[in-house]
Amino acid sequence: SPSGSSPKVCIVGGGPAGFYTAQHLLKSRLDIQVDLFERLPVPFGLVRFGVAPDHPEVKNVINTFTQTALHERCNFFGNVGVGKDVSVAELRQAYHAVVLSYGAEGNRRLGIPGEDLRGVYSAKDFVGWYNGLPGNKELRPDLSSETAVVLGQGNVALDVARILLSPLDILKKTDITQPSLEALAESQVQRVLIVGRRGPLQVACTIKELREMVNLPGTMPDMVTTDFEGVASVLKDLSRPRKRLTELLLKAAQGAASRQAGASRQWGFHFLRSPLEILPADDLTSTAGIRLAVNVLEGSHEGARAVPTGEVEELKCGMVISSIGYRSLCIDPAVPFDHHKAIIPNTVGRVQTGAGLYCSGWVKRGPTGVIATTMNDSFDTARSLLQDIEAGVIDVYSVKPGSRAVLSSLDSRGVKWVSFSDWEKIDKEEVRRGQRVGRPREKILDVAEMLRVAHS
Ligand code: FAD
Repeated sequence: SPSGSSPKVCIVGGGPAGFYTAQHLLKSRLDIQVDLFERLPVPFGLVRFGVAPDHPEVKNVINTFTQTALHERCNFFGNVGVGKDVSVAELRQAYHAVVLSYGAEGNRRLGIPGEDLRGVYSAKDFVGWYNGLPGNKELRPDLSSETAVVLGQGNVALDVARILLSPLDILKKTDITQPSLEALAESQVQRVLIVGRRGPLQVACTIKELREMVNLPGTMPDMVTTDFEGVASVLKDLSRPRKRLTELLLKAAQGAASRQAGASRQWGFHFLRSPLEILPADDLTSTAGIRLAVNVLEGSHEGARAVPTGEVEELKCGMVISSIGYRSLCIDPAVPFDHHKAIIPNTVGRVQTGAGLYCSGWVKRGPTGVIATTMNDSFDTARSLLQDIEAGVIDVYSVKPGSRAVLSSLDSRGVKWVSFSDWEKIDKEEVRRGQRVGRPREKILDVAEMLRVAHS
């Protein structure tokens, strides 16, 4: 293309969506320049801060993301909060196109009394705590009670249940944070109840995560067998993945899968229950239990609705972790945001606000789907953007300053941004600290220390 017309694209968020969008853009056009801005000094989003520490194989995508970051037409700028350190309007002035891929950093609230008691946590914070998210460093969850209740029956709920019940020997070999390892070593939690509004045919987890629970050493499933009445007879009507999942669930419920004599810890799905209230202890500040509404199902299979019977049940527990979903936030008032759906409204990744603004990942579709789903979704957005360049919808003939303009603003505001090679110093240091204690990595838990290592 004629001189001065190489397209400059900026991506907000250094998680899977950001990296996969960048990868597709770089591969598809040999003249495109991509800059990634990330709020934290460290990249990879939920691959680092969400994916469970005992799922190291899932984190292999980091190798692909690193290849992208090291690409000669790609730059990574960490420790830059868009909407705070630099506005979306400034980015739009500096680049031909801006892609918002900043994920879902909020969480859905239960909206019931007692939600703010001590002992009640969102799965997002709990996961952030054991995975070393700087903002959750001080969570220090109270693990002194025997029973923990997890609200929600998706994969995140199972991650949380598994971490609470895993033998320490397993966790010790992972990159779980040192303070959470120490806290879990002292944990009194013996029983985790995974509560859902609907029944066994509607659980939202996948078979891999269920199998891990079933096979978790030292534990056994504990479920109410009457919850499974009629389930065996509908197996033949189910889709293949749902059928396999349900068969495993049935096996677990019947105790067939619990070969583990002497298992001291228990877990189980508790079906057809909706939370009504978290009950305070005598001190009025900590958690003593939970009141649940008993439901029946209306309709069948995936489409079934939970309807309260009017009956109520109370369970004793000292800890409640609500795993009912993450939620995207609006980071800049200049960007359209659907507060009801908590996404950026878009058409195949094009934000409806004139050319040049795009979105991908969880902020585009909502906070569901595995990394592979996020990858496909990000490739779709990249294709929309490339089509708009081809069609002249984005005017790449106007010369844009790109990172030069943004970095000089950041410098003038005293923002200490982090390059990818700075991150590699943090990475090296974390691996070194891990090796000393026989673990793959010991994460640095606060931003100031990350910056010290990065800029040393
Ligand atoms: P994110 O991964 O959240 O990335 C968003 C990035 O944007 C973050 O780095 C964030 O710091 C940054 N950001 C936020 N705000 C700003 C801002 N204002 N300025 C600049 N940057 C910003 N999938 C699997 O395939 N396997 C698993 O085992 C698995 N486990 C999971 C466990 C948990 C607890 C969770 C929550 C998800 C899990 N997933 C798993 C799903 C997977 O993590 C998501 O599909 C994927 O991370 C979504 O990518 P994203 O880039 O949209 O969001």
